[in-house]
Amino acid sequence: MTFVVTENCIKCKFTDCVRVCPVDCFREGPNFLVIDPDRCTDCALCEPECPAKAIVPAEDLPAGQAHFLELNAQLAKIWPPISQSRVPSPDSKDWDGRADKLALLER
Ligand code: SF4
Ligand code: SF4
Repeated sequence: MTFVVTENCIKCKFTDCVRVCPVDCFREGPNFLVIDPDRCTDCALCEPECPAKAIVPAEDLPAGQAHFLELNAQLAKIWPPISQSRVPSPDSKDWDGRADKLALLER
């Protein structure tokens, strides 16, 4: 299986997760990160690193977030890798926990 980045990462994108991944799974878009399911070894190291609690194992995806499995796979094919954390944007914390952010996803 794989781990999946879910909706709460959108516009938070703290990037704490990327530095712990031993196999460089993370891919970066303008305001969201995804995990490449073809690389993920299911090691679970990234899950506790995410301040937004946006990373979950595919088998535990909450109701209403199932489509993020396919979205991660799709976007991982076109977005570039990221393996170094960055300074988050100043309003990242303001977006943590807001509902219905999918419409704000930039590709
Ligand atoms: S730490 Fe969480 S919110 Fe930040 S980029 Fe990674 S998945 Fe997204
Ligand atoms: S579960 Fe492990 S291999 Fe998969 S994205 Fe997270 S840190 Fe990387």
